Amino acid sequence: MRRVECRLDMSALLHNLSQVRRYRPGQPVLAMVKADAYGHGLVAVARHLRDQVDALGVACLDEAMMLREGGVHQPIVLMEGLFSRPELEQARRLGLDLVVHQSCQLEWLQQASAGRSFDVWLKVNTGMHRLGFQPEQVIGVYEALRALPHVRKICLMTHLATADQPGDIACLQQVDLFKKLGTMLEVEESSCSICNSAAIIGWPEVGGAWVRPGLMLYGASPLVGRSASELGLRPVMSFKARVVAVQKIQKGDPVGYGGLWVAQSDQMIAVVGAGYGDGYPRTAGPDTPVAIAGRRFRLAGRVSMDMLAVDIGQDASIQPGEDVELWGGQIAIDEVAQASGTLSYELMCKLTSRVARHYVY
Ligand SMILES: *Cc1c(COP(=O)(O)O)cnc(C)c1O
Repeated sequence: MRRVECRLDMSALLHNLSQVRRYRPGQPVLAMVKADAYGHGLVAVARHLRDQVDALGVACLDEAMMLREGGVHQPIVLMEGLFSRPELEQARRLGLDLVVHQSCQLEWLQQASAGRSFDVWLKVNTGMHRLGFQPEQVIGVYEALRALPHVRKICLMTHLATADQPGDIACLQQVDLFKKLGTMLEVEESSCSICNSAAIIGWPEVGGAWVRPGLMLYGASPLVGRSASELGLRPVMSFKARVVAVQKIQKGDPVGYGGLWVAQSDQMIAVVGAGYGDGYPRTAGPDTPVAIAGRRFRLAGRVSMDMLAVDIGQDASIQPGEDVELWGGQIAIDEVAQASGTLSYELMCKLTSRVARHYVY
């Protein structure tokens, strides 16, 4: 057995949700479970959060369908809304709520026959320039939505581009613009939503009752230069493997493809049975930490498809079969992400299907 595994600590998930409540007491929570709950398993995560969050956010109808089939009856929001007109009736059948971010989506709603109503999240582009109506369009769209018999509640929302950098001017401008629009439309605070994880933690003064945590629920840090543990978060995911071989090498021996890493002295190398074929980042540099038998070491040479090598120095105690943690409680996923030129978001989403998931409740 090669035994690469992804362990998911569901008590950490609830702990992290309690941290959302600590940062934002009393505010309703739209928990982001898109992209297979950031790689943690859509239905398992949603079921575990079920009674404790106010709504769940997904990227598309397929994800929402999986939740309904998995027995999740919570409100579900399609965060990018409908992608085509026929999706409207499907969304209706599944009892979904919709983000409306562009005119065709408004038109589909206007052309819809009578039937079950939708709660709508009207998305405004306040400066990220990805999705959302321009500020000057918002009044018209808001009025048009209010005129529709099958639109129930309307919540005004926006998304921040630089909330991970506390104090950033562009972020302040986005927030100010959003506030002005809210005031102009006389939308109550309870029907506004701005904050993702970074803003929940790093921008305590930013309002909007509904918060939309994603990353922080899974226990990684949303803020540049701050560790998850100092923010009170616990990792849900641990990525584990085993040592498959231990090599004695001599000073000057290169290790791995390209021979880029060269031993500086006579020493030992542990070969671990996990690689980019499992979702470990191939771009991980030589400073990337790895824990073997509870001790921290660093990578040696390039990550290959099924294996990676670890510089264990003179440590003769490490044997084949030893437990390895690639990220989790000992090695923060943010450290691996940083040493690989990416973000914890991407690492979480990228574990491949050959990595077995084990849920611990
Ligand atoms: C994914 C997403 C979030 C969650 O962002 P995190 O940085 O993971 O907290 C919030 N809002 C919207 C619109 C999203 O798409």
